[in-house]
Amino acid sequence: MATQSYSLIIHGGAGALEDLKYEASESEFKESILEILAAGRQWLESGAAALDVVEYCVNLLENEPLYNAGRGSVLNENGEVEMDAALMNGEDLKAGAVTCVKQIKNPISLARQVLDQGDHVMLAGAGALEFAKFCQAELCDDAYFITEARIKQLKEAQAAGRMMLDHEKVKPAQKLAQKLGTVGAACMDSQGNLAAATSTGGLVNKRWGRVGDTPVVGAGVFADNETCAVSATGYGEQFLRTVFAKTVSDYVQFKDLDAIAAAKAGIAYLVRKVNGEGGVIVVDRHGKCAAAQSTSGLIHGWIELGGEAICKLG
Ligand code: ASP
Repeated sequence: MATQSYSLIIHGGAGALEDLKYEASESEFKESILEILAAGRQWLESGAAALDVVEYCVNLLENEPLYNAGRGSVLNENGEVEMDAALMNGEDLKAGAVTCVKQIKNPISLARQVLDQGDHVMLAGAGALEFAKFCQAELCDDAYFITEARIKQLKEAQAAGRMMLDHEKVKPAQKLAQKLGTVGAACMDSQGNLAAATSTGGLVNKRWGRVGDTPVVGAGVFADNETCAVSATGYGEQFLRTVFAKTVSDYVQFKDLDAIAAAKAGIAYLVRKVNGEGGVIVVDRHGKCAAAQSTSGLIHGWIELGGEAICKLG
């Protein structure tokens, strides 16, 4: 039974908005964000738990090839999709994560199975695949995940001789077909519980076996009912080195900041310490929603305390 209002914020990656036109129009991104928020609202109004809602929203984002997660994930140096995902429940700090997974249609739901199963927090690669089969998670051939746009993007990254961040702003001479990408959700449900989830294909042309921030609790994802729920996107190594998502939560806990101030303080810290590039979404324990980024854009949208859905690309 709902006892109070709810809040939901989702993102589709941080990046250089001026490059959106290479892959999809702004309206396509806006439409998809607003549709997913509407689907999340329905669930929340029926009293769904924050953990279920963030898993559900990230499932929808993973199924949408516009984003760098699930179907449409970027390709590693071998032309393969290797995905990372994690989610966390703010009520009891339970968390589940999978890393370097292939063939899993919805990595966030496999992460949820890890959380529910409870023995471990993170499973990797072949072990995660075996666990997926045990759980009867939906599997897909490689062809399901790989889109033409991603093959082109990898070729361009390799021709430029570099590892490519899907959100990175490149010099015109190295202009690559970028997609903004990694996805995430943070939520406060009608019981006042918080949860966050993040899912990604990682970096274009990354080394196989590379693990980013997304599946690491405290780096790409964090939720604690005492503070806030956080999902991050950007250059994963920088978010790992700054323990980014937990740092944002610490700003709430120890400096008594609200979502807006904590999101801004987190990004300022990321820039100051490691010149980091990326963005963050936050819902605090009072249901305040906020986003901040050091890139020129962050695709995101929110419903704050049951209000109107809004979508922003910057
Ligand atoms: N953080 C992700 C990673 O480094 C990439 C992204 O957010 O776009 O794997």
